[in-house]
Amino acid sequence: MPEGKIIKALSGFYYVLSGKDTVQCRGRGVFRKNKVTPLVGDEVVYQAENDKEGYILEVKDRKNELVRPPIANVDQAILVFSAVEPDFSTALLDRFLVLVEFNHIKPIICITKMDLTNDDQYKEIQSYAEDYRKAGYEVLLTSSETEEGIKDLYPFLEGEISVFAGQSGVGKSSLLNALRPDLGLRTNDISSHLGRGKHTTRHVELIKVGNGHVADTPGFSSLEFIDIEMEDLNFCFPDIQRKSEECKFRGCLHIAEPKCAVKDAIQNQEIPNYRYEHYKSFLQEIKDRKPRY
Ligand code: GDP
Ligand code: ZN
Repeated sequence: MPEGKIIKALSGFYYVLSGKDTVQCRGRGVFRKNKVTPLVGDEVVYQAENDKEGYILEVKDRKNELVRPPIANVDQAILVFSAVEPDFSTALLDRFLVLVEFNHIKPIICITKMDLTNDDQYKEIQSYAEDYRKAGYEVLLTSSETEEGIKDLYPFLEGEISVFAGQSGVGKSSLLNALRPDLGLRTNDISSHLGRGKHTTRHVELIKVGNGHVADTPGFSSLEFIDIEMEDLNFCFPDIQRKSEECKFRGCLHIAEPKCAVKDAIQNQEIPNYRYEHYKSFLQEIKDRKPRY
């Protein structure tokens, strides 16, 4: 039986990419057999009726599943932040990183609008980029205007399903436009495509970029720590997590515990203080969260 990846879902049809062909499939059988509703990003087995049409027989196990936008098997999140307009914020970046890490998705930090920075701002962004690289992240500095750094993004997208994430206005749609200039979409067109249009039905489509796929709708629109517990936070800060192995107490939250290796690392400036401040404020936020019923 042929297999493929759902790249688009529309009006009850699933568009399955198999090799170079896209086959329009219905979901017949799927609902009866394993009661899974197919999602964009799903790997499926289908029965071909002819060259162009078929129906899905089976949805393979998912690696993960995002709710908004509804998409399965997301490998990476490109966290898009502008250097200026709006100003770069480590607090917001750390929040996105926690949400992405918690979902076992690989983050890639992309700082855009570098062309709009003056020399001091450029240096400041470079220094933040160094901090995050030291923490273990990939950081790219780009401009969709001058195309600085755009080429460097392609290798990261290779063979993966990626979603963009980031505040409105940071340059996500411009970036997609710079990656796929041949689509000829104007920024405004893509912006409505990117989920800010009038249409309430959330329609998502994977766009081929190089040998990878990028969702046309940004992910992580809710920035609340809904399911994250206090103990989880450690694992969402890889730099803190690495140090925590040397803490005296297992399950150390790095607040008031004695012989805390993380607090030592902050003192020695091995970990930037702002990362720790964000860790502490997120911990408090989780602690103060109202219980859900
Ligand atoms: P989105 O809401 O994240 O999709 O952001 P857009 O891609 O719509 O960009 C918001 C505004 O910033 C638009 O006016 C873009 O033209 C502008 N913009 C985006 N990227 C860049 C960039 O790299 N350099 C400059 N100078 N402007 C940019
Ligand atoms: Zn500790």
